[in-house]
Amino acid sequence: MALITANRWSFWLRESLASESSQDIQQVRGDTEADVCIVGGGYTGLWTALRLMEKAPTMRIALVEADVCGAGASGRNGGLALSWWPKLETLAERVGDDEAVRLARASEEAIAEIGAFCEREGIDAHYRQSGWFWVATSPAQMNAWSSTVRACESRGVVPFVPVDREELTFRTGSPAALGGVFERSAATVQPALLVRGLRKVAIRRGVEIFERSPMIRLDRDRGVVHCPDGSVRAPVVILATNAWLSGVPELRRAVLPLSSDVIATEPIPELADGSLWTGGECVSNSRLMVDYYRTTRDGRVVFGRGGGTLAFASRMGTAFDRNTPRQAEVQAALGRLVPFASRARVSAMWSGAVDRSTDGLPFFGTLPGRATVVYAAGFSGNGVAPSLLAGRILASMVLGSQDELSRCGLAAGVPGRFPLEPARYFGGLVVREAVRRKETREDDGLRVGLFTRRMAALAPSGFFKIGKEDG
Ligand SMILES: Cc1cc2nc3c(=O)[nH]c(=O)nc-3n(C[C@H](O)[C@H](O)[C@H](O)COP(=O)(O)OP(=O)(O)OC[C@H]3O[C@@H](n4cnc5c(N)ncnc54)[C@H](O)[C@@H]3O)c2cc1C
Repeated sequence: MALITANRWSFWLRESLASESSQDIQQVRGDTEADVCIVGGGYTGLWTALRLMEKAPTMRIALVEADVCGAGASGRNGGLALSWWPKLETLAERVGDDEAVRLARASEEAIAEIGAFCEREGIDAHYRQSGWFWVATSPAQMNAWSSTVRACESRGVVPFVPVDREELTFRTGSPAALGGVFERSAATVQPALLVRGLRKVAIRRGVEIFERSPMIRLDRDRGVVHCPDGSVRAPVVILATNAWLSGVPELRRAVLPLSSDVIATEPIPELADGSLWTGGECVSNSRLMVDYYRTTRDGRVVFGRGGGTLAFASRMGTAFDRNTPRQAEVQAALGRLVPFASRARVSAMWSGAVDRSTDGLPFFGTLPGRATVVYAAGFSGNGVAPSLLAGRILASMVLGSQDELSRCGLAAGVPGRFPLEPARYFGGLVVREAVRRKETREDDGLRVGLFTRRMAALAPSGFFKIGKEDG
């Protein structure tokens, strides 16, 4: 079946698909069997498939994807591959001090491994390891990183170095950056080229990939993944559907889909020829509705803002597939943070669902039923690098390996639950509006009233300990 371009696809995915020589896809037709069936063709599903092939080369692995591989968050994200060092405190709360440091270190190594994978397999995903600036773009955000920096230092690690304002302006292209720290392990990728590259390598290694084949029902006792025109029977099923996991009854209150909205400028000649700022670094600020940006190889600025659309009862529907309804807001933020880029036309915009967990960290577990059904969820906007680790954890879980990964504290199931509906949705709207109001006033240097501050404080903790998410 040949590929027909879909409107919901991001600029990244369109660019990637346009560069592919063959676009034939295979669908589930009739009934087939496998040793393992992975549901979801994003980074998590594909890294898991590759890890299983590495550990058990004779295993028959099928992967079913509702759309095409990369149509979900993996083909839509900002392409900032970040470590878990900024999450160290939350990690320590979840898994204890020693394991937190070990996992954060593993997440840092995962970034380098993505680069090595691309190099080894001949995947040009525009990988560039230039580090990450975590900055304050309003006085209220100043020193948001302090407790994380202290938490690292008290455990004997120093991933962050302070950067003064002059250097920040020069290296982030943002006169709004008042202060910040730098973490050198981070990298940028063209995210869809990475996920499409993973797909290519997985097919090369013998993984059978079915696209345009949504799982419409899962028989957890017999281990059957039902699709519209057939099924895959497998004793082991791995659910790697990210925000769509909010549709699984046991996970409905553990995963909160929340949109992140992204715009891309047209190429800016001074960025493309290197005469203006661009060292290829990742930049994000310290808002709860975080702003994040980077440049691209062809000289665009890709800029995103988290904390957008919420869906009632966490229903995914099409709410996360349309162009962002926050275009004006995101464009204004780009203008404030990166003024020179706002002179360029916005040539693309898109939106996607982030799978928020209650503490901003992923979790792994097993669902009840006679078949083995495992899942990974809750990346909370930081999944580009951690999904490689997720693939290892899931593979260890299904192979029954008693190793550090399958026993790690993240693999203990649901860590916390959001409120029941309708409180979750309507309460969420009120809190989100309070956060929006608070952060807009802070950006404008205005005082924030007590009521707004109190309401905003009810937002779940997110990406950083102080309550940030990144994607
Ligand atoms: C706009 C945006 C910006 C982001 N920015 C960053 C960033 O800069 N840095 C970062 O680290 N992280 C970022 N993230 C988060 C990151 O993209 C994700 O954590 C990561 O891609 C998750 O990968 P995944 O494979 O688990 O999920 P996905 O890539 O979403 O894959 C899940 C797949 O499952 C498929 N699926 C769903 N239901 C079914 C079904 N019933 N049957 C079959 N298939 C199904 C979907 O089509 C999808 O392709 C961002 C996310 C978004 C949305």
